[in-house]
Amino acid sequence: MIPEPIELVDNYDRAFPYLRLSITDICNFRCEYCLPDGYQCSSKPKFLTLAEIQRLVTAFTELGVWKIRLTGGEPSVRKDFSEIIDLVSQTPGVETMAFTTNGYRLKENAQSWHDAGMKSLNVSIDSLDRTMFNKITGHDRLDDVLAGVEKSLAVGYDSVKVNVVLLKGINDFAIGDYLDYVKERPVTVRFIELMQTGDNLNYFKKRHLSAEVVRTQLLEQGWIENIRVNGAGPAVNFSHPDYKGAIGLIAPYSKDFCLGCNRLRITATGDLRLCLFGDVGIPLRDLLQSDDQKQALQARVMKQLDYKKSSHFLAQGETGLIPNLSSTGG
Ligand code: SAM
Ligand code: SF4
Repeated sequence: MIPEPIELVDNYDRAFPYLRLSITDICNFRCEYCLPDGYQCSSKPKFLTLAEIQRLVTAFTELGVWKIRLTGGEPSVRKDFSEIIDLVSQTPGVETMAFTTNGYRLKENAQSWHDAGMKSLNVSIDSLDRTMFNKITGHDRLDDVLAGVEKSLAVGYDSVKVNVVLLKGINDFAIGDYLDYVKERPVTVRFIELMQTGDNLNYFKKRHLSAEVVRTQLLEQGWIENIRVNGAGPAVNFSHPDYKGAIGLIAPYSKDFCLGCNRLRITATGDLRLCLFGDVGIPLRDLLQSDDQKQALQARVMKQLDYKKSSHFLAQGETGLIPNLSSTGG
């Protein structure tokens, strides 16, 4: 059910019922396109506290947000991850609670996170080949991550998705493996075009590939593009009568991608980002210090929506503030 009204609407008539909340910049993986040298930090970071998260989520749900995704960095490295799930999922107005993970702790924790209130998850698996997975992430953990997906299906999550960043020469020849993977599993595999960030220009030039290559294969093999429902995000989804799972394409370089934007982002230190690739971070943390600041917080957020641009300008090489996706919450 989509609660009405959504007050978060921008000048292009886009509504924002979906908040992606980063809870940490820290990550234990070293994905080649994101943190090839691993997470680096000179001083001890101060990420949003439980109380700040509570105030933030309450303020946004009152403005009509009903879907919250926890992300990072790797959200599950936070020791209080289960408490965060518990408090966010219990906040009135939160209908869908999701997170994105590299899956390294999923097998052991899928049940307890579900018990705490988590209902949907996206797991990143850029290769189904153990050696290649190790090369991309710096961790020989493919079997554990795959076991985590199986455990999540057994536990009964409402939605289990696998994120795959399309990488030329690394996984573009293995699209068939992912199709086999969803044949008998009710999992959606989402191919995401590699995005250029401040840190990865050379990698991007070498590995970026248009999602059109996947679309062509899907259509040749009888997959059908689903009709887009109102308020759906930018992913284009495909289904096939012989497959239990589905395929999604996320093509940020495609024309009109931003027309379907339905999300706002909060960094792990409490800045509002109107766009993943925006060049402005709006600090909210000063208004998260006591419950009686809620109206001021909501007013600041509403005012900022006037500045949300019609589109990112990625195709022109503008990556805004973002050095890598772990620093803003992918
Ligand atoms: N650590 C978690 C994970 O990897 O799933 C959550 C954070 S990660 C930044 C969120 C998603 O962004 C992952 O699916 C990751 O593969 C994707 N991602 C990271 N950098 C990217 C880039 N430059 N282009 C496209 N997707 C990227
Ligand atoms: Fe970590 Fe996710 Fe970035 Fe990989 S994509 S380095 S798992 S934050």
